[in-house]
Amino acid sequence: MSPHRRTALVTTALTSAGVLILGGCSDTSSTAEAAGPSVIILSGDGMGPQQRTALQYYLYGLDERQPMDALPYAGFLDTIPGDPEYAVTDSAAGATAWAIGQKVPNGTTGLGPNGESVPTLLDVAKERGMSTGLVDDHDVTNATLAAFGAPVPDRDLKVDIAKGYLDRGVDVLFGGGEKYWYPADDPGKIPDEGEDDASEGDTDLVARARDAGYQYAFDQTTFDGLSGPKALALVQDSAKRRSTEIDGYDYTRDPHYVAPERLVAKALDILGANDKGFFLVVESDDLDSAGHEHDAQNMMLAGESVNAMVQVITEYQKDHPNVLLIVTADHETGGMTIENLSDDGEPEPNSDQVADDPVPYWAKVPENMPLPDGGVPKRSGPFTIKGTDRRFKVDWTTAEHTGTMVPVTAAGPSAERFTGVHPNTYVHDVVTELWDGTPENRE
Ligand SMILES: [Zn+2]
Repeated sequence: MSPHRRTALVTTALTSAGVLILGGCSDTSSTAEAAGPSVIILSGDGMGPQQRTALQYYLYGLDERQPMDALPYAGFLDTIPGDPEYAVTDSAAGATAWAIGQKVPNGTTGLGPNGESVPTLLDVAKERGMSTGLVDDHDVTNATLAAFGAPVPDRDLKVDIAKGYLDRGVDVLFGGGEKYWYPADDPGKIPDEGEDDASEGDTDLVARARDAGYQYAFDQTTFDGLSGPKALALVQDSAKRRSTEIDGYDYTRDPHYVAPERLVAKALDILGANDKGFFLVVESDDLDSAGHEHDAQNMMLAGESVNAMVQVITEYQKDHPNVLLIVTADHETGGMTIENLSDDGEPEPNSDQVADDPVPYWAKVPENMPLPDGGVPKRSGPFTIKGTDRRFKVDWTTAEHTGTMVPVTAAGPSAERFTGVHPNTYVHDVVTELWDGTPENRE
């Protein structure tokens, strides 16, 4: 990049942020401010309007807006897939709408409506010379991230998804699901217990990653040592959830547990070093699992992580204003509602029925059955609205996804475009137009 070109970019970035700095910038900080526009998509999988409201009440109360809702622009996205049969999306089709800007049938992960290969936003970012990253609080090979970094015909092809990331050269890969990266006879670095079970892969993909120049982390110490530019961290997934489900397990004492907000902070450190900017997709999968299992306690834990991740990113944006953050969801899960504990002194019955109360994957029987006296099932509350004496419980209508619109909030360049109601493919359109730098294309 010529000195003249760099100066022009710095001026643009600073002007768009409404800030004027005269001289005194070191070359490094000028580069950081000029980079981009970078884009971060943060998906709370299954996080519909009622989930966001419950998280606000329980974690932040009525006086302080939770970080994900304190972003300056807000709107709604529809979630309907391009499916001949279904009105309700799965995560694969939901994330594919963001990744390629087209509605596709459920189960499709990053491919076009007829299974054809099309460039994803991650491909476009790579083409622009940007760094790319995928971060998850659960398997990094999950459908949402695969839709961007490893298009496959079936979301369950997790080993193929891991190979696809390496083939594409995604720079930062942080999350869980170690078992898909090691061959079947190799236990990997994390003890095989609970969810992180015996290896299921057919190749040593960790060795392949290291040969390709990736640094590799498997616990807090090795994670802290990562410096990039290419890094793979396969750390304990869903550890917060597990602590509510496995007797004697405490995630705060697990050396393999790296909190999602730490994953995001490190990803920003590494990706932010590229003066052409970066593209990062972050998913909280635990919100969706909690919805499928009607487990509002775990939903609150996952929501706490989502807000902590947003906080890390908004802090980063203060020094790096040319970063667009989009916080949304691929769909709602569970048909969750917020209800009073009682009506005129009578308990509000929970409408959970046997057929509607799913058996969690870690249990043998439903864990959240309605109580005979109308009491609140243990995983549905009651929850106190922070800073008040008011309490609420949650109720669910399905163990599946629902078709409601989902909130989207945003901050940074082009964030204002998320005001209003749009199809979910709009995420793709705003990002590509931001990168095209063609204001005449804007509405
Ligand atoms: Zn789901």
